[in-house]
Amino acid sequence: HQVYFGPTRYTGKQKKARAAALAQRHSLGTLTLIETYVSKVKKTLDAWNLRAKLAATPAHRIRAVATARLKELTRKRTAKPGVRITYRSEGPNTLSITDDATTIANMRAVLESTNNTDLLKAANDVFFNQETAGTKPAVRTQVIVTLNELDQIINGDGDEIELNLTNGARMTGAEFLTHKFAEIGYATIVHPIEGPINTWRLERGANFKQRLTLHAEFHTCSRPGCNKPADYCQVHHLIPWQAGGYTNIKNLTFLCAYHNGIND
Ligand SMILES: [Zn+2]
Repeated sequence: HQVYFGPTRYTGKQKKARAAALAQRHSLGTLTLIETYVSKVKKTLDAWNLRAKLAATPAHRIRAVATARLKELTRKRTAKPGVRITYRSEGPNTLSITDDATTIANMRAVLESTNNTDLLKAANDVFFNQETAGTKPAVRTQVIVTLNELDQIINGDGDEIELNLTNGARMTGAEFLTHKFAEIGYATIVHPIEGPINTWRLERGANFKQRLTLHAEFHTCSRPGCNKPADYCQVHHLIPWQAGGYTNIKNLTFLCAYHNGIND
């Protein structure tokens, strides 16, 4: 009753849904079923459109129609490359750049090469300071290759493989072959089942080699959905050191500053 007769900003959609549900002679059970699908939609407008669509669908078809529509709605929207500027009446305004992962990683490296800790100051330097402008620094990062991928690359199937770099960039196996190693930094070979080839024993802080190997298993913050590149993350003990956790690869992971903070 609340849904079909209660107050809403979408009175037009509500009216349409109500009429459709009536025409289909949907039972209360069917209306409840429709709500279980609608509740999975985040935006109110999308939810109303789905409700109206399902209300107009014969009961035996609802499952199929709802599943198809939900799939469409949850399909990842890929950000379009470009430069977007947002102007606000009282400022501040925003300039944002969207481009492929490698370009963005390189842009970040350029910003950081200006030795400003504040990336905004760094961006100002790059834009307006002629001396520091546009010099591309040597990228120091890691590319991760598993043994089976290495096999494939050597066999010439590198085009089909996408390799992750720990600074958030990506390259194909074919590009990996043509890339100068000095430009990448390090390549770490990972066994598909055993994990990184090297392992280390205890020491409280993760040493340099361990950090490198850890990069090979996790190229982003380990929180699901967080894509902060590993190069900008902190090393985190799964079982805390104080509780007897080891500083070995199996007990280490990456968390970004934010997730490491809320974790503690
Ligand atoms: Zn994170």
